[in-house]
Amino acid sequence: MTGLKEGEERVTLDLLTKKMDDFARERDWERFHSPRNLLLALVGEMGELSEIFQWKGEVPKGLPNWKDEEKQHLGEELSDVLLYLVRLSDVCGVDLGKAALRKVELNALKYPVNVDGGSKKQEL
Ligand SMILES: [Mg+2]
Repeated sequence: MTGLKEGEERVTLDLLTKKMDDFARERDWERFHSPRNLLLALVGEMGELSEIFQWKGEVPKGLPNWKDEEKQHLGEELSDVLLYLVRLSDVCGVDLGKAALRKVELNALKYPVNVDGGSKKQEL
């Protein structure tokens, strides 16, 4: 059971990396995709993502009171951030999937499960 509908493609970081590379190459945008430019674009998209939550105060998980259009917009801005992060990693020669898995392992070593049941300060 893959959870995929017929004809659906599994979304992986490798697939997104290839799609972003194809997208840039087809438009001759590779010359603009320097690490610095991509980082600035990523920060810009983080700003657009932040604007969605700006002035709303704390919102409950699942965003139960948000309109469908607001959630769709959120998905678009989250995607912009992800896609620029994937592209930045690719042009920098970083395997983002491997790097992220390694970071999770490092974080687990840094913050071992507390067997006493108490809470620990979160600081990645
Ligand atoms: Mg955007």
